[in-house]
Amino acid sequence: MITLKKPKIVIVGAGYGGLMTTVRLQKLVGVNEADIVLINKNDYHYETTWLHEASAGTLHHDRVRYDIRDVIDRSKVDFVQDTVVEIKKEEKKVILEKGEVEYDYLVIALGGEPETFGIKGLKEYAFGITNVNSSRQLREHIEYQFATYNMEEEKNDNRLVIVVGGAGFTGIEFLGELTNRIPELCHEYDVDSHKVKIICVEAAPTVLPGFDPELVNYAVSQLERKGVEFLIGTAIKECTPDGIIVAKGEEEPREIKAETVVWAAGVRGNSIIEKSGFEAMRGRVKVQPDLRVPGFDDVFIIGDSSLVINEEINRPYPPTAQIAMQQGEVVARNLAALVRDKQDLETFTFDNKGTVCSLGHDDAIGVVFGKKVTGAKASFMKKVVDNRSLYMIGGAGLVLKKGKFNVF
Ligand SMILES: Cc1cc2nc3c(=O)[nH]c(=O)nc-3n(C[C@H](O)[C@H](O)[C@H](O)COP(=O)(O)OP(=O)(O)OC[C@H]3O[C@@H](n4cnc5c(N)ncnc54)[C@H](O)[C@@H]3O)c2cc1C
Repeated sequence: MITLKKPKIVIVGAGYGGLMTTVRLQKLVGVNEADIVLINKNDYHYETTWLHEASAGTLHHDRVRYDIRDVIDRSKVDFVQDTVVEIKKEEKKVILEKGEVEYDYLVIALGGEPETFGIKGLKEYAFGITNVNSSRQLREHIEYQFATYNMEEEKNDNRLVIVVGGAGFTGIEFLGELTNRIPELCHEYDVDSHKVKIICVEAAPTVLPGFDPELVNYAVSQLERKGVEFLIGTAIKECTPDGIIVAKGEEEPREIKAETVVWAAGVRGNSIIEKSGFEAMRGRVKVQPDLRVPGFDDVFIIGDSSLVINEEINRPYPPTAQIAMQQGEVVARNLAALVRDKQDLETFTFDNKGTVCSLGHDDAIGVVFGKKVTGAKASFMKKVVDNRSLYMIGGAGLVLKKGKFNVF
């Protein structure tokens, strides 16, 4: 009797892209057709797009994560909790901290890492909004500053200064949550709210580059009203244990003292990509239209570690959960085709459903189906988007468990 070896599909990373690939693939492929292995650092998935809430403390970090095993079909998918150290693409092997796994097909969905542009001191002294651990640490740090402020005889006002580097999506969403959280913190720790300073430093000439100017003005005036000071066209030159050094154009650099500096400007691909010898731009691999790596027909890369060009403007699409999930759906179909020996693979085309940027739980700006929205309407849309991503991966059950229903 001849037994044919089943192809082994290995998916690394259980974020938006990796989990979407897995849940779609488990429906498309039978147990006799392929072995599917999903590898992730933690046994939980976190909603990266909700981390600004966990970081500000407006949503508990347990609300932004769920058990991976609850959404995969364990009769079809073998889940391995381990950390990827390197990919040996010539040997078709993934090296893990606790072992190694061979593959016939590999999907790399390891997400991104903060891009610090070589700015001195950022890695050492600034906080990031990158995963559950960093968000929890940032929330605790801010609370500690408030709690300590009143303990000290000689008041250190810098404890109440929070600098946010970057007025892109992540920076603005975090500021929205933070400005909602500050009155609660002041009340809880008996701190005079006038003492609190929130400063957003952005090197680009505008807040939310690429967003509609009318919506940007709305966001800026709402955040300014809640106490945010914007330093636009101003670059962070260095981060120190005491704060940051900034400079605007030709002006002399100056110091802003702050006990909390948050870096929320820029994403690069996962460092595993460059470590594994893939040709990349800022850690992101320009993938083929079918999402495979040029020269490696058995490797797909999706999400923040991939780079897809928007042909209309000849520039890369910014990395988003929306793209990662759509890529996951295409990769699942392409893998199903490959295990059935079909070589004609689907091409990925991004279908932009719109973008909504929250300004706290009760306010937002966005463009949805080509229409501009602000305020409560936009905030409602944001929650619809958040619940939709839960639904697409874990169905109605996951929405009921983790969804956002504080829509009014
Ligand atoms: C605060 C914030 C708000 C955002 N808001 C939006 C938004 O509103 N809309 C939008 O579309 N996008 C938004 N984004 C961007 C979006 O979150 C990312 O583009 C998206 O998460 C990328 O998906 P991914 O699958 O590539 O990676 P991720 O979802 O980040 O998942 C990567 C996974 O890989 C795992 N991993 C990493 N390294 C290893 C390793 N070495 N070994 C094993 N596992 C590993 C991680 O634990 C994680 O589970 C936001 C991002 C942030 C930070």
